[in-house]
Amino acid sequence: MDCTKPGTGARHVELSKPAIEGGSPVRATTLPYARQWLGEEEIAAVTETLRSDWITTGPRVVAFESAVTDYCGARHTVAVTSCTAALHLALNALGVGPGHEVITTSLTFSATPLAAVYNGATPVFADIDPVTLNINPDCIEEHITPRTRAIAPVHYAGCPCDMDPILALARKHGLAVVEDAAHAIGAVYRGRPIGTLSDITCFSFHAVKNMTTAEGGAAVTDREDLARTMRTRRFFGVARDAWSRASSDKPWEYDVSELGFKYNITDIQAALGLVQIKKLDAFLERRKQIAAAYDAAFSGMEQLTLCRVPHETDSAHHLYVVRIRPGFFRVDRDGLLAALRSENIAANVHYKPVHLHSYFMNTYQTKPGSLPECEQAGNTLITLPLFPAMSHSDVQDVIQAVQKLCSWYAA
Ligand SMILES: *Cc1c(COP(=O)(O)O)cnc(C)c1O
Repeated sequence: MDCTKPGTGARHVELSKPAIEGGSPVRATTLPYARQWLGEEEIAAVTETLRSDWITTGPRVVAFESAVTDYCGARHTVAVTSCTAALHLALNALGVGPGHEVITTSLTFSATPLAAVYNGATPVFADIDPVTLNINPDCIEEHITPRTRAIAPVHYAGCPCDMDPILALARKHGLAVVEDAAHAIGAVYRGRPIGTLSDITCFSFHAVKNMTTAEGGAAVTDREDLARTMRTRRFFGVARDAWSRASSDKPWEYDVSELGFKYNITDIQAALGLVQIKKLDAFLERRKQIAAAYDAAFSGMEQLTLCRVPHETDSAHHLYVVRIRPGFFRVDRDGLLAALRSENIAANVHYKPVHLHSYFMNTYQTKPGSLPECEQAGNTLITLPLFPAMSHSDVQDVIQAVQKLCSWYAA
């Protein structure tokens, strides 16, 4: 066949068969969608802690809290076992309880609405903006009732929500705002760092997040009263933990003054976090470069819709998400995801909308069809690998696999 003549099947020659159909994969080993990046410095810091006298909540937690406070430019940090714990404690400290409602997005990890549930409150879901996939501020007010106590926006993929209208709504209706910033440490909204905008901001240091303590989280606030309450309730409702008691006259004496939980983080984890937070800006810079490489490769492809970061924000680029345009493929999203995985690109989905999980449908009567933009996104989005330790050739593999499958499965 003469492929130099137009219209003689030159396009066919370029197509390579997907691995899922028996072709050879783009790469030989699996590329995960996210992975931690630890070095000798982290190993040394953890080892030193293990050799010290104090391994649970102690001086390294105090130092880690200061490091997070300084990084964000906030006033107080309460480090806890997870972002889930931070969200629970944050709503708890703000007085959210039975009979109350918390408005959030459904395109999130279940931890966000569950934080309301743990406090006896009801999660209420507002629809998203289809461009950023963040909660749409214009969709919040219709859900506000006399029972609403808080709004819990999630900075999806690390891109800050449009906070000014959300904060204005909260002020107008007397509501608290708790940010789920599990994806967003280091992100900036209109020149203001995430962590300085609302009542309480919650971060995650889970292994796949932008920096890690293996498992861990933090609640950051400018309000001294909330910081004090969260600190007490992080450890059973005891105002002074074992470390601060250790140096007092009566180290055996303690008082449970209110209902608290067991959410304290260890010095082993804080030692890890103290090293990771020093590297965070370099991690974010590398994430930004990779996201830019993906944007450049995919922005001309009419089969894909990219998420846009509004110009007034700096994303923390936690996830790189593309949406497939349904009429442009011979397969659905799950088919494409399976094909990508066969190419050894472990793409993922963030998220199946929370209101479509059976627990929420059975308990809160949430229904398919109630959040059209969120559901449409939930059916069409794919999270591509993005983590700072990716090499240039890892990035090229992802681009090549996406281009290969888009051509092969083009409608
Ligand atoms: C990871 C994540 C959480 C929970 O964080 P943990 O530290 O694992 O509890 C909450 N919300 C979102 C959006 C997340 O991605």
